[in-house]
This record gives sequence, structure tokens and C-alpha cells, in this order.
Amino acid sequence: MSTTTTSTSLSADRVLHGVPAVAGVQYAPVIRPGARPRPEAFPGDDVAEADRPVEVRRLKAAAAAVAERLRERAAHATGVASEVLATTATLAQDRAWLGDAEKRINGGAPAPRAVAGAVDKIADALAKAGDLMAERVTDLRDIRDRVIAEVSGLPEPGVPVPDRPSVLCAEDLAPVDTAGLDPALVVALATSLGGPTSHTAIIARQLGIPCVVAVGGLDEVPAGVMVMVDGGLGTVTVAPDDATASAAVAASRRDAEAARSWIGPGATADGHAVAILANVQDGAAARAAAETAAEGVGLFRTELCFLNRDSEPSVDEQARIYAEVLEAFDPSAKVVVRTLDAGSDKPLKFAGHADEANPALGVRGIRISQIDPGILTRQLQGIADAAARTGTAPWVMAPMIATAAEAQAFAAEVRSFGLAPGVMIEVPAAALLADRILAHVDFLSIGTNDLTQYTMAADRMSADLATLTDPWQPAVLSLVATAARAGAAAGKPVGVCGEAAADPALACVLVGLGVSSLSAAAAAVAAVGSKLSQVTLAQCRAAAEAALGASSAADARTAALGALADGE
Ligand code: PEP
Ligand code: MG
Repeated sequence: MSTTTTSTSLSADRVLHGVPAVAGVQYAPVIRPGARPRPEAFPGDDVAEADRPVEVRRLKAAAAAVAERLRERAAHATGVASEVLATTATLAQDRAWLGDAEKRINGGAPAPRAVAGAVDKIADALAKAGDLMAERVTDLRDIRDRVIAEVSGLPEPGVPVPDRPSVLCAEDLAPVDTAGLDPALVVALATSLGGPTSHTAIIARQLGIPCVVAVGGLDEVPAGVMVMVDGGLGTVTVAPDDATASAAVAASRRDAEAARSWIGPGATADGHAVAILANVQDGAAARAAAETAAEGVGLFRTELCFLNRDSEPSVDEQARIYAEVLEAFDPSAKVVVRTLDAGSDKPLKFAGHADEANPALGVRGIRISQIDPGILTRQLQGIADAAARTGTAPWVMAPMIATAAEAQAFAAEVRSFGLAPGVMIEVPAAALLADRILAHVDFLSIGTNDLTQYTMAADRMSADLATLTDPWQPAVLSLVATAARAGAAAGKPVGVCGEAAADPALACVLVGLGVSSLSAAAAAVAAVGSKLSQVTLAQCRAAAEAALGASSAADARTAALGALADGE
């Protein structure tokens, strides 16, 4: 496929696709972190019984030395970087892995093999626990590599200090690699693994440098090669045309300038209003979003509040958590609360998920209420209580609706709590029958992440399938158009709350397709609002038509950008 490269076939102007993490464009040569010790390269003979206490002491001394160095760096760093370094230092002496490694040494393993075995066991368990826990695996593996290097007398792994502005590329970047980076010298980050909530993305956001994660083929790009990183589009272009890349960097600087001065409310240049909202996962995120020009919340992912919970939170606890989000904005602001989207990549222990062969196509989202209707009822009670406490009128929507009957049953229950019901359009079947679904609910919100996954039959978490899971796919846009048309016919709002709404150009296309609101990560709000304010509704419609007529995601993007530029 087009994103796959090899060191021999790596050609100029090759566009590698990943997941956008922090917007912005930069163009500079690649640097890569120093090699990490490969645990499998340290099998070693078993340690004689008499030498095992010494080996244990060597391990503890190495862990202590690594922790001490990290603490020292934490003391010299600031903000999130300092927190990240301090947390990693604590992890270096965590009893969970250290105790297991000690047992392995007492069983005969040399320290490096014991460290690798102990850490990998915990890391595998975390990786299986899913999305957010899996992000912590990088931290643990970083500790593993540092302790193995220390105990083996090897240089500490890490990022070289570049002598000119560079793009740091790696499989994944551990917190200690990214903490303390100088944004004047490391101007963008790109990783072949990781997710948009990884430490790499968090630090890039803090440093204000563009970042793309899960980039297919990135590991084949050697140090020294010029690349252009587009953190908004989620692409890394290898050896692009010099003039084109420099122009893209300059344009991105101008866009960033314009975004900084955009204060909302959302509208096209000719005054067509489009609410620009934020996606949040808790009260803190909602308060941060309220500091931006976001007009409200288009998606409150409630399941993210409870990922670590073994038992279902009480109605009262839920009400308290939801109230924090509801009161972050003015009481008249729009806040859309999504009921628990448990399952697949976000399992909740208390939802009683069965062991499924194919969880993305299994009992997730609204389907859980077929098995245990009480979870939904108690959540709606919690939302209704939060609304009463805060004097707000939240909209409430269900994830993973596939049929009109599911929408009808959900709407009836939501209305019984005096709340306004809507559903997410994430399943192609729901987009195709949006008109029949709208007979029961007050609004639709299109989740382009899952809608793309299910339309293209491509796992949204797969870095290898990033070309297929691109929301610019014309088939996906066609389903968005169908849902938006149904909304217009019914006179009911249809928003987009998937990542597509965070891409300023695609956001304009979505408006051209007829969506009435856009909800994105708070960090993307200004760029989206600012872009929309620079184009007319007619330009958005022309871009939508051009994208719908394309036969690939790449062509759709090119055609839409052309249409948006026309008349500028
Ligand atoms: C989506 O699928 O687009 C969506 C917004 O929901 P989530 O990403 O939480 O699955
Ligand atoms: Mg979804």
C-alpha cells in the first residue's frame, strides 16, 4: 500500500500517513534517538546461586541510579515536562516490576534478562487493558531500557541534541526523551507508534510544535533526510520539493497567527453560523475548553471517566462528575453528553463485557443496554440530577446506534428524564437510514472516527491501514452528506464530533455537506473556527462537491483545497 516504504524504495516526495496530534507544518532534517539496548541481546548464562544476592544489589543500584538521574532532570525542567520526569523516576523504583525482577534473579536470571521479563509481563498486561493504559507501556519500556543499559555498562539511551532545527522521528518517544526538548531545535515530532494521547503528543502540545503519531513507514526514513511534518493533516512528506515545503511552512505560520486572534462565534465569511464546540472527557478538560472560543461541548465522552473503575459509580457520583462539565460553560451553552461508549478499545470492567472474538463489532455502546438496561437508566438519572443541580439543559446522545428501533427506544428513555435525545451516526446503516432515525430523536452527531472504521472495514487503531481510515475517504463523506440532508429535511441539527472536525479544511467540507456544528479537541477549535471564517458557504459547498466527486481520500483533499482556495 502507498504508506509502506523500504529503505531501498524510499522515494522523494513520498507522503506517509499517521494520526494528527498537534497542528502546524515544519520542514527540517530527521534526527533519531540513540539506540536502545535490545533485551533479547542479553540472554546471558544463569547466575550461580552464590552470586545472586550481588546481582540483586546490582539491579537495585542501577534502578536507583536511573531514578536519581531522572529526578535531577525533573528538578531542572518545568511544567508538564517536570511532572513527566518525576513520574518516570518513581516508576524506575516501582515495587511491581522490581520485586518480580528480583524473584527472577533469585531463580537464576541475570539482571538484564530479569528486568526485561518483569517489565514486559506488566507492559503486556497494560497493553491488553486497552487504549489509555497502553500509553503507559512506553514509559515502562523506557525504564526497562535505561535500567538494562545502566546494569550492562552501556551509554544511556536518548535523544541527541541537534545542531540545527530538526524533526525528531522515532518508533515512540518516552517521556524522558521528550521532556526538556528545546522547541527551537526540535521543531516537530513524528512517531511510528503511539496514540494522540501519548506522552509524545502531550509534550508536543506543551512545546507548541507539530506532531504526528502512528505514521506508517516512518521507521524506514533515515536520519538526515529532509521531511515536512503536517500535524494538522497527520502526514510526513519525505524529501518534498523545497519551495513547496517552505511555502507550506509559511502558510501554516500565517494560519496560526490568524487562529490566535479568532474569538468566535463560528461562522463562514458570509455569516452562515456553524457552532464550534469542544470534545471533553472530564471537568478539567471542559474548563480548559471554556478558556478557548468553543461555544460549548459537542461530545462529552463519559466512559473515559470510568476506565479504571472495577464497579459502577453510584448515581450521585456520576451526577457530581457530569455537573463539573455542565457548569464549565454558561448555563445556556450547548453541552452534548454521550452515554457510556464502553467496549472495543474502551472496555469498562463494570459493563460485564463478554470475551468477544471481534469486540469492535460486538456488544459496545448502546448495545450494552440490551444486556444490562440498568446501566443506561442509572446514567440518565445521573445526567438528569446534574442538569437539575446546575440549571442546565444538556443534550444526551447514544453511541453506536445502528437501527431506527434502537434510536426510538433510547429517545423514549431519555425523554422520560426530561432530557433532549439524539444519537451518534457511527455505523453506515444509521447514516443510510438517518431520515428514519430522525423521526425519533432531536439531533444527530456524526462520529467520523467509527463511521470511517466501519465504512472502510479498517481498524481505526491500525497504523498500517491509515490510508483507509482517512476521514477524507469519499465514501465516508457521502454518508455524512446523506445524514446532513436528512437533518435539513427534518429541520433538526446534525453535527460532527469525530476527528474530521479538527481538520480545518475538512471542517469546511463538512459545512459544505450541510452539517450544522463541529466539535473537536479544544486545541483544534481556533484553527477550525479561523479557517471557516475565511471562506464563504459557497466555497464550502464547492469544496464538498469536489471531494464527493473524487475517487480517493488524497484526491478528495486536493480537490477540496483547490475549491477552498478559489475565490480567496
Ligand atoms: C467517533 O467515533 O467519531 C467518536 C467521536 O467517538 P469515539 O472516538 O469516542 O469512538
Ligand atoms: Mg465512536
